[in-house]
Amino acid sequence: MYRRCALLARARFTSVPLRSDFSLDADAMLEAIARDRPVLVWLACPNNPTGNLFDASDVERIARAAPGLVAIDEAYYAYADATFLPRVLDFPNLVVVRTVSKIGMAGLRLGYLAGHPDWIAEFDKLRPPYNVNSLTQAVVPLLLANADVFATQAGAIRAERSRLAAALSKLPHVQMFATQTNFVLARVPDAQAWFAALRDAKILVKNLDGWHPLLANCLRITVGTPAENDALIDVLERR
Ligand SMILES: *Cc1c(COP(=O)(O)O)cnc(C)c1O
Repeated sequence: MYRRCALLARARFTSVPLRSDFSLDADAMLEAIARDRPVLVWLACPNNPTGNLFDASDVERIARAAPGLVAIDEAYYAYADATFLPRVLDFPNLVVVRTVSKIGMAGLRLGYLAGHPDWIAEFDKLRPPYNVNSLTQAVVPLLLANADVFATQAGAIRAERSRLAAALSKLPHVQMFATQTNFVLARVPDAQAWFAALRDAKILVKNLDGWHPLLANCLRITVGTPAENDALIDVLERR
């Protein structure tokens, strides 16, 4: 999506591959930053579709080296152990963007950005009028008043995530990756066949095989309800 949005804005786009363990290749990032002098750097923390949180010191190095704005995309903040939000003013070029989509409110189309007031003033010059519609705005006080409900729900999903990952890691020849999101990433022996078996059981997961060489035979599995997770584990255990 970052690439697509950049192209829509007629901007040049450079991407830097992660290491094979999906960690940030900070040295390669710094090289690319020195070479291309980007006006904007995006870092999804935690990352989608790999699920991992990038090393905070790598993010800091990138923020210090970048000549322009660094946007930390915290779409999965509710499922992560760390955030840059309280530190956003420690760097003159950092903003944190969040969305309520991944806490179960994707239909609201609501997101927010935190940063230095000087940056906010610049963004306000570009923000289209009424970019957050009035019905969505009317829901915001409800979201805030029920923050504990959303936190409880995220906690339940995190607990189910551990259970799901533990069950999948017991399957032969399955590699699980560390996740700080509401999904787990699994490398399986044959992603196409596993995807098809789940689809036949009316369970839809994301087959990432073919997206990028690093994601060969990887499935992204969103954590469901306990019953949904049991159904998925059951299909895979019987393979
Ligand atoms: C889902 C997601 C978003 C934003 O989703 P919206 O529904 O457009 O708010 C942003 N970044 C990442 C990494 C995501 O996974």
